Amino acid sequence: MKLAAKLIYILVLGIITVLAFNGYFTVRHDIEIFKTDMKQNAHLLGRAMKGSVTNVWLTSGQKRALKLISEVNESAQRLYIRFVWLNASPDDPYSPRIPREKLNIVIQGQEVSFNKRYKDGTGYLYTYVPIKIDLNRPGALEISQSLFRLDEYAHNAVVRILVMSVTLLLLSGVAVLLLGFGMIGRPLHSLVGKIRRIGEGDLSEPLHLQGSGEFSELATALNTMCEQINDAQGKVRKETTARIAAIEQLRHADRLKTVGGLASGIAHELGTPLNVVSGRAALIASGNLPETEVVESATIIKTQSERMTAIIRHLLNFARRHSPKKTIVDLQQVMLQTINLMAPLAEKQKTRLCFAGEDITAMVKVDSGQIQQVLTNLIVNALQSMPDGGKIEVGIRPEGNKDSGKEYFCVYILDEGVGIQEKNMQHLFEPFFTTKETGKGTGLGLSIAYDIIQEHGGWIEVKSTLGAGSCFSVYLPREVEQ
Ligand code: ADP
Repeated sequence: MKLAAKLIYILVLGIITVLAFNGYFTVRHDIEIFKTDMKQNAHLLGRAMKGSVTNVWLTSGQKRALKLISEVNESAQRLYIRFVWLNASPDDPYSPRIPREKLNIVIQGQEVSFNKRYKDGTGYLYTYVPIKIDLNRPGALEISQSLFRLDEYAHNAVVRILVMSVTLLLLSGVAVLLLGFGMIGRPLHSLVGKIRRIGEGDLSEPLHLQGSGEFSELATALNTMCEQINDAQGKVRKETTARIAAIEQLRHADRLKTVGGLASGIAHELGTPLNVVSGRAALIASGNLPETEVVESATIIKTQSERMTAIIRHLLNFARRHSPKKTIVDLQQVMLQTINLMAPLAEKQKTRLCFAGEDITAMVKVDSGQIQQVLTNLIVNALQSMPDGGKIEVGIRPEGNKDSGKEYFCVYILDEGVGIQEKNMQHLFEPFFTTKETGKGTGLGLSIAYDIIQEHGGWIEVKSTLGAGSCFSVYLPREVEQ
């Protein structure tokens, strides 16, 4: 049941209960007064008759006295008087209507009244007034009054209370419809609708309720709250946009820094094919070559040019700023491309950068440019940790997470570098944390990598032994086939 209806029904039930109790007690009280009145009338009449009946009986005899009683009965209304012998047996015409044993108190000279109900439902009030005529035989006047009018009054009163309650119930039904739903139900419904819309994130359309009651105050408060949330959301949106732009700029700067490092390696890498190209071109230009060798030299020039184009394209691809876009790719391929891109730099530093681990297909939904940036950063760090060269192993393996039940792929970069001091471990992913000399490190690489991997629903783990090397593991969720 709706709140409005509940409130009104409770109110109406309360009123009906109070009215019913009030009616019940009023009727009882009226009946008591009615009975007392009847008794008093009977007693007054009995006492008035007592003297004259005794006189007539003693002076003119029983017959005359009984005649007097029947004359009074003819003129009396709603009362009937009889002379009774209190100790007469039940079949005696002068026996009282109330059993003898109850009338001892009358024998002792007291007046008394009794109610008696017969099987047909009729009831009578019997009043006994003692008369002393015969010393051996106690007599009394028995005045009977029908309880019919009293019963009729009680019956009518009960019917009246019932009719009143039912009418009140019907009226309350109408009140629930008209007043309840109009004054409580409708505004409450509007408020609930508004709150539901707020819950769904719709802050538009302020709610206007008529009047100046609590409901309209609540509506005004809700409208103000919506405006405040709207303002706050606007601010958060602005700040978020500014933050994303700043992060993007930082990421791009970080990429360009890596490009700088890579460029020197690539320049070295381009040196060999360029020498080959210029040597072969010089041979062709000399015009002394037989035709077959000209073709061979031209083919070599073509192959070397293509190699150089590929190297430069890789570098450009890496350096270019692009908006993040997730696609389903093979993580192993992204990893191999990064190894290829980094190979010249590694070679320059006398480091072997090799692919280790299983050859698997690792489908993930990622922005491959961003993942390449993460892996490049980790490999550059590994290279920088090995100033005297050595070996870097990059591998990939499937990994299940017991807690979430999800499946991941783990790309790890294992170096033989200087390792990380225990005290630095907790600061590694903080922006601008670096142990490198000025100009070499910005301290942004790992914090950006952390952000990117977290955005992809993954995480990074580090293990390191001082003097022996470090292992960085990047976890990314496996793309579940739909
Ligand atoms: P940067 O390389 O510019 O210093 P990073 O955020 O990439 O910034 O790295 C932060 C610090 O973490 C480095 O200065 C270095 O001390 C430490 N570090 C990162 N990778 C390695 C690694 N493979 N071996 C040893 N130390 C590392």
